[in-house]
Amino acid sequence: MNKRFVVSLLAALFTLVIVTGNLLAKPATLNRDEIPDQYKWNLSDIYQNWDAWQTDMEKVQSLMDQYKGYEGKLNQGAQTILDVMKLNDDLGMLAYKVYQYPGLMYQTDTRNNEVQAKLQQVQIMFARFGQATAWFTPELLQIPKETMVKWIDETPGLEIYRFTLMDTYRQAEHTLDAKGEKLLSYFGPATGGGAQYSALSTADVKFPEVTLADGTKMKATHGNYELSRFSFKNQADREAMFKGHFSVYNDYENTYAAIYNATLQSSWAYAQARNYESDAQMALDGNDIPVYVMENLINTAKAGADQLQRYMKLRKKVLGLDKYHYFDSYMPLVDVDMTITYEQARPMIVKSVELFGKDYQQTVDRAFDERWFDVYESEGKRSGAFSSGVYGVHPYMLLNYGDTMEDAFTLAHEMGHTMHTVLSNENQPFVNSGYTIFVAEVASTVNEMLFLDYLLDHEKDPNTRIALLEREIDNIHTTFYRQAMFADFELKAHQGVQEGQPITAKVLQKLYLDSYTDFFGTSHDDKDWYRNTWARISHFQRPFYVYQYATCISGGALLHDKMTKGKKKDRQKAIDKYLELLKSGGSDYPMNELKKAGVDWSTPAAAEAMNAKMKELTDQLEKELKKAGKI
Ligand SMILES: [Zn+2]
Repeated sequence: MNKRFVVSLLAALFTLVIVTGNLLAKPATLNRDEIPDQYKWNLSDIYQNWDAWQTDMEKVQSLMDQYKGYEGKLNQGAQTILDVMKLNDDLGMLAYKVYQYPGLMYQTDTRNNEVQAKLQQVQIMFARFGQATAWFTPELLQIPKETMVKWIDETPGLEIYRFTLMDTYRQAEHTLDAKGEKLLSYFGPATGGGAQYSALSTADVKFPEVTLADGTKMKATHGNYELSRFSFKNQADREAMFKGHFSVYNDYENTYAAIYNATLQSSWAYAQARNYESDAQMALDGNDIPVYVMENLINTAKAGADQLQRYMKLRKKVLGLDKYHYFDSYMPLVDVDMTITYEQARPMIVKSVELFGKDYQQTVDRAFDERWFDVYESEGKRSGAFSSGVYGVHPYMLLNYGDTMEDAFTLAHEMGHTMHTVLSNENQPFVNSGYTIFVAEVASTVNEMLFLDYLLDHEKDPNTRIALLEREIDNIHTTFYRQAMFADFELKAHQGVQEGQPITAKVLQKLYLDSYTDFFGTSHDDKDWYRNTWARISHFQRPFYVYQYATCISGGALLHDKMTKGKKKDRQKAIDKYLELLKSGGSDYPMNELKKAGVDWSTPAAAEAMNAKMKELTDQLEKELKKAGKI
């Protein structure tokens, strides 16, 4: 099924919400009514009121009825295809608005049942539509590809749909006949271990209570364990929390292995049913990415992991620890309390993107002036942050801004997504406006790096400079090296299944600890403690997803370097190409789009640039630490 068609539109809308972490920032929770309007997003840009929303809901229903009228008629000719594609667009554009109006409102107050009911109304309508239009792709594929190419060549209006239509044909060789698809669809809800994983890990899990050195008792929940890593000054307390938290994964190691085995087996079964050579190939095929891209990434990251190990050893020295563990990796090297209010962040964010020119900066200003943000935490509002587009209107950004340095970086990050969406929507027809995850996090990464540059350029205090560098290096540690390590582990686990090897808790532990050693070397002590830590990573239930975090940050780093280093002429060329990348939206496969911008994933160059950046930043950190007398 081609994801660009409206039949899977709801799924697409959900993936547009790219949530950024920082669940731990805890600003004072306010009642929403107490927050001035200027800090709340303005949803009347979508609809003035529910009546206007209702009118569009009825319009969507009538367009859906029209859509059904095309069943059995697609082979009538180019004009029919054009009419259906246009109808698809009209439906898609309206879908954004009718979904996002209650959807965004719901995010700011998840307790509001009235809004929730309206949101469900939209979801039910689109789910029904999805079922009723399952005929579309199989019927389209009945038309020979040569005929379709001819129709597109002869019909100017069809040109903008060429990419989407041809992509449907490309994936056709992995689409079964109607009987086969139906058979497979029966197994959909019954395969994989995702549901069991989340039931065990969230609904049923009981984390033990841990006693800290001062006698305090604390439950070793996800939140508390994460909190302990950067706020518990006493290493023994961090260790206690770590051991308490992971005792659950150790106690259920066989269950976790069995669940993961279900996910691995089902992935391989589908790959075989759909004529793929491997399930990695199947997972990457949607975006037309060859498996060697992921393999290159893993191998290059591994080859450069000596810098990661050097950083860990540097941390051990600064923190004055005899033994160093994973849970020591988040402890701040210096005590700084850097406050950046939302008002202070605004001019900094605008100035940090000066290199992109006046137009870009003006749009960033507009986002602040025209209330594209929902800034502060309030009762019932969801946690984290995201940017979410509404085609034909503008993107909206949700924050839980608590005046910390991290919050300012989150703002820069979401603004990167927002500007990507704005430029894509302005320059692409609707059908090609949606971009993939493979490029999405490049835009946010670049803006974060530019924001860091701005702060470092204006910051004299040695401790704050150390904190800023540390933040960026940690970002590379967790987003590049750690995710590449996860990808290495999951690739080996999937390959094991393909080769018919048994998957048990012991087998998975060995695979994981091998990957762990390849990346962290001897920089972490007591490695056996980590044997079941893979089980905490829920992303493994969604095969071959994590590697994209690593490709995005390294692609972003390479582009950032090209745009900020070297001769002015070359820098300007890189900036122009980068803006073209943002404008290209989803008009081509992500690898092609990135290649035009200067990131060629058929070579290890981007991953190598990330290794170089890790070295450069660690050098800089070492220098600052010496200056501050910390080493
Ligand atoms: Zn993001």
